Amino acid sequence: MTGWTGPPPLGVVVDLDDTLYPQADYLASAATAVGAEAQRAGLDGAAVTAALRQELAAGSDTGGTIDRALLAVGVPAADLPGYVPALVAAFTAHTPARLTPYPGAEDALRALAAAAPLACLTDGHPRIQAAKLAATGLEPLLPVVVVSDAVGGRPARKPHPAGLLAVAARLGLPPDRLLVIGDRPGKDVAVAAAVGARAIRVRQGEYASAPDEPPAWAVTDSFPAAAALALGVLGAVPAR
Ligand SMILES: [Mg+2]
Repeated sequence: MTGWTGPPPLGVVVDLDDTLYPQADYLASAATAVGAEAQRAGLDGAAVTAALRQELAAGSDTGGTIDRALLAVGVPAADLPGYVPALVAAFTAHTPARLTPYPGAEDALRALAAAAPLACLTDGHPRIQAAKLAATGLEPLLPVVVVSDAVGGRPARKPHPAGLLAVAARLGLPPDRLLVIGDRPGKDVAVAAAVGARAIRVRQGEYASAPDEPPAWAVTDSFPAAAALALGVLGAVPAR
């Protein structure tokens, strides 16, 4: 029924943003924090928040979003260096109080943790990714977390294999026996392929409508559905 061929996966690696919780919730609260800092700096905080939300919605990982938001609210380009560092600092330091996981994600993660070695591989500023994970309340279920930026900076972000290789080393498993679950074909599916592993794509969040390129082993519409598929193909290795 599963269509799995070859040796079964021995461990599961999950993505964080838009896989376990909706990243838009984090971006909205971070934009509010930046707006508050902009207000302190004498700008129209509400306008900055609104402009930043719009920029983030247009693409959350392109960089330069705060600069573009300030230009959008009429800050002259020559004045950007006077504002941007403090606003970037506010963004980076933002600690969301609570990020609600997708429905059923916590139970699904618990079932995976009981069945196999489990890890999280995520891209981004290590401090921000740690704050997000803490806010989801899912941290206790993920004893192994690797932030690719902490392994090798931005160049190590998925689909670069460095992060997934680090996960494999931490779990003590061959990289090609890992099963990756994530929302982005170009990152989560591609990083699995880069080490000879397979992936389940969860079609949700900012990249829900992105094409299946590269193709995943399976595509689902929710994390619990992906976890159920994973549980069906995992090899018999006891969780640690
Ligand atoms: Mg993601």
